[in-house]
Amino acid sequence: MLPPLSAIAPVSVELRLAYVLHHFRQAYAEVPEVSIGYANQQPQVEVVASAGDFFARQEPQPPAPTLREWQGQLLPFFFDLNPEQPLLELLPGKHARINADLLAAAFYLLSGWQEYFSEERDRHGRFPYTASVQHCYGFVAVPVVNYYFDILKTAVEHTTDQLLHPRLWVNEAPFATFITHDIDELRSAWKAPAKAALQRVNLLRFGQLLWQRFFQSDAWDNLELVQQTVTGYDAKSTFFLLPEHRPASNGTPNADYKLAATALQWRFKALVKQGAEVAVHGSIGTSVDQQRLAREQTQMPAPAAGNRFHYLSWEPRRTPAVVEEAGFAYDSTLGFAEHFGFRNSYCLPFRPFDLTQGRACTFLEIPLNVMDATLHHPNYLQLAPHEILPALLPMFQEIERFGGVCTLLWHNDHFDPANETTGPRQFAELMQYLRSRNTAFVNGRDILMELGNRR
Ligand SMILES: [Zn+2]
Repeated sequence: MLPPLSAIAPVSVELRLAYVLHHFRQAYAEVPEVSIGYANQQPQVEVVASAGDFFARQEPQPPAPTLREWQGQLLPFFFDLNPEQPLLELLPGKHARINADLLAAAFYLLSGWQEYFSEERDRHGRFPYTASVQHCYGFVAVPVVNYYFDILKTAVEHTTDQLLHPRLWVNEAPFATFITHDIDELRSAWKAPAKAALQRVNLLRFGQLLWQRFFQSDAWDNLELVQQTVTGYDAKSTFFLLPEHRPASNGTPNADYKLAATALQWRFKALVKQGAEVAVHGSIGTSVDQQRLAREQTQMPAPAAGNRFHYLSWEPRRTPAVVEEAGFAYDSTLGFAEHFGFRNSYCLPFRPFDLTQGRACTFLEIPLNVMDATLHHPNYLQLAPHEILPALLPMFQEIERFGGVCTLLWHNDHFDPANETTGPRQFAELMQYLRSRNTAFVNGRDILMELGNRR
């Protein structure tokens, strides 16, 4: 059930500006003092106000964007009432004017406004990709807000005579990569082949699989293999552990293992000792229930700063407050299950905006860019193995261009060599590419150190 829209706290123009400019300043290594705003403030960088009363109403989508070219790329501009005017005017006297309201557009995309006011949800209660402006206007793999900031940056450089540079990561790396594994299943590798054997009435094979099930370890019980594989690229693993093994009331499965089991707790402690990070994989229902989510946090084998919801559950009208009240420092749920790319059109971690309370959240959202299952699944994309890297390459290049974070979700069961579509070979190909670009492999805590404390 979709929570009804309550009266929301009004979002003043000052609040929108402060929210957007906080993120602009965080995106670059050093931003000199410069005034950016609307005409009534007489700033050095003036943006022409064009949102009208959009933010006083409760509509999910603004009028269709115009298309403008910026450095050879066509980009959508929401709130652009003056498409015949040049996008950016570099004026004498160290002034600049931007004729499309990219401050309003950046707030609209970063804050998740469209999801909050949309009535559309899929069968898992999620805001569907098909209802998004990213899908409507075809820009899911383009971090449009980073491009808006690039325009602002050019204006700031003109007014200050100083060059701005995207932030660098550890060892001067041009961008960062966050490798994550949601641990849903450790005991179920035998199920699909067993079902197939039954369908073929191959009882001998079925019997063999049952034997393996009870007397041998499961191919998906591979946590140590996952960590060794990732370490082989000088990268770090973050494991998202699912503390609930009972299915949800609607039958949706949670974990096929019991996280409380002593042997498993010790295995995770050992992985942490060897450099892995553990985080919570909030079970079905916890995205709207902070008490249950907080309880799941106490079942972790080591302290957890982060969370990602199972099935990427996220109710825009309630989840930001739930994550905050449960006390997490970061979340990494916000990506579309149906398509890789940028759900908030931004390739750096950011603070979601809680529209109910009218303020930025205290936790950091590390947006999810690509999940293994998205790439080859009857409900999502159906890329052949050789098509995966070419499909993701433009997205990786955008993240590198803006010094962002590339968040990859590869489930442990996708390290099973039997998986030939989105399995260990495809993972290896992506990792080899990312390493060849000199990315900094980081975990959630590294990102918090880098971005979390700057407000
Ligand atoms: Zn999951």
